Amino acid sequence: MLEGQMMDRPLQIIDILKHAAKAFPTIEVVSRTVEGPIHRYGYRDAYKRTAQLAHALKALGIEEGDRVGTIAWNTFRHFELYYGVSGIGAVCHTLNPRLFADQLEYIVNHADDRVIFIDSNLLPVVEKMADKFPGVKAYIVMSDRENMPETSLPNALCYEELLAGQPETFDWPLLDEKTASAMCYTSGTTGNPKGSLYSHRSTVLHALGLLAPGVMPFGLGTCVLPVVPMFHVQAWGQPYAAPIAGTKLVLPGPKLDGESIYELLENEGVTLTLGVPTIWMGLLTHLRETGKRFTTLSHLVSGGAAIPLSMIKAYEEEYGLNVVQGWGMTETSPVCCAGANGPEMEGLEGDARHEQKLRQRQFFGVELRLIDEDGNELPHDGETQGELQCRGPWIINGYYRNEEASAAAMTGDGWFRTGDVATISDGALLQITDRTKDLIKSGGEWISSIDLENEAMSHPDVAEAAAIAMPHPKWQERPMLIIVAHPGKNPGAEAIREHLKSRIASWWMPDDIAFVEELPHTATGKVSKLQLRERFKDHVLSTA
Ligand code: AMP
Repeated sequence: MLEGQMMDRPLQIIDILKHAAKAFPTIEVVSRTVEGPIHRYGYRDAYKRTAQLAHALKALGIEEGDRVGTIAWNTFRHFELYYGVSGIGAVCHTLNPRLFADQLEYIVNHADDRVIFIDSNLLPVVEKMADKFPGVKAYIVMSDRENMPETSLPNALCYEELLAGQPETFDWPLLDEKTASAMCYTSGTTGNPKGSLYSHRSTVLHALGLLAPGVMPFGLGTCVLPVVPMFHVQAWGQPYAAPIAGTKLVLPGPKLDGESIYELLENEGVTLTLGVPTIWMGLLTHLRETGKRFTTLSHLVSGGAAIPLSMIKAYEEEYGLNVVQGWGMTETSPVCCAGANGPEMEGLEGDARHEQKLRQRQFFGVELRLIDEDGNELPHDGETQGELQCRGPWIINGYYRNEEASAAAMTGDGWFRTGDVATISDGALLQITDRTKDLIKSGGEWISSIDLENEAMSHPDVAEAAAIAMPHPKWQERPMLIIVAHPGKNPGAEAIREHLKSRIASWWMPDDIAFVEELPHTATGKVSKLQLRERFKDHVLSTA
């Protein structure tokens, strides 16, 4: 090999913020705090505080490779953790506060989190289970002393007190770019949640990928508001992409209702916003109820679940926005495809234009293929559906310390099985059509059909149970439970609900419960969800 004569400088996350501090010192990071008031500072001050945090982490005994948990909303302190933790070579492990106790217990212990940073209004999430986390040495409440709540947590420290008086510069270590930087578990599938472990290299490349021209507006004079939580796949990379580009970053804190989001979009001059369809449904309702309009917003990105055509239409026609759909997964950093504003849009108007937006173009760096049940590659003709597989520098090559799940997810030739079913047209336009994984996605959060079925089947009168996803106007999908009772038994929906109540998170409760004589089965004896979905395709949920 003739080696190129270029400097071997590693890609490091902290260099993003270091750059922004120099190039865009006064471009702001604006947060709605947990307490309510708006907090704002420039990238230069954010970088200084990140250095103080790095000193504080060192003082807490955090070493390279240690996992640092966070249970927090999108605010400036979480932003500082994204950079400070990875900057010292540790791993920022974002935890979803909506997980229910068993999953949280598994995840914190499996990741072996050393400390947990937590927002003050999320303390109840862990207070009742602190004794289940023997490895966690301290809890750092992301607050100042004035707003520190009473807590039963052992060794609870105050974020601002840890930072106070620390030097505003830090001698960041030069890390190998393959060093782990952050992790995020995905839940809901069979068995335990599975961890994706990102690296400095994957994160920086993903952030640069997001800046591809013509997809989302970035750069001086632009302003992004990620409604997608920072605990969900790194807020789709926005906290990294914005400072590279000199884009102002607006973090919405815990209030994600239509009114609160609208207020921030308008007050801060937001040009780009990102979130799941449920959030956009809430915002649309608010707009229609109040007659409000956008004065600065130009692009709305929807991902995490299929966006309804009617929503694309409403935002584009009624509000003049450019709706961009994105596809990705926790395992893919997450963005692999977004937007369809290419030549194929030319000449398209009205519905044809909106329909084209159901497709999304793959990013440079990501390769996609469709595979049939026998492992054959399928054509990208816009019609043939197959299991979607992908590969690229920001896609996992296995799950964290989980050989079984890794073996199941990776193909022999190094591609990642997504569990989504899709078509690909015009070479690189992806459209998700179905799912092979047995899951329900309600408002952007997973519900495991298997767990739901197992809990239902623990009722003494239930012989067999199957949960399927049903369309829902607000949550995109909600669970419906279909039950076969033991001969001579007739438990009734109320008894099943009562039974499930103490066993599942409240938002997992099936919207409808139906009783049938028998369930359809596949040749291998599994319940055929395909046939079941077909059988109930005309059912409208009572909550819809
Ligand atoms: P998560 O790991 O929680 O981000 O979920 C990833 C999964 O969400 C994907 O595998 C899809 O099943 C689903 N998903 C994400 N984006 C889309 C989209 N644009 N359309 C349909 N489903 C999506």
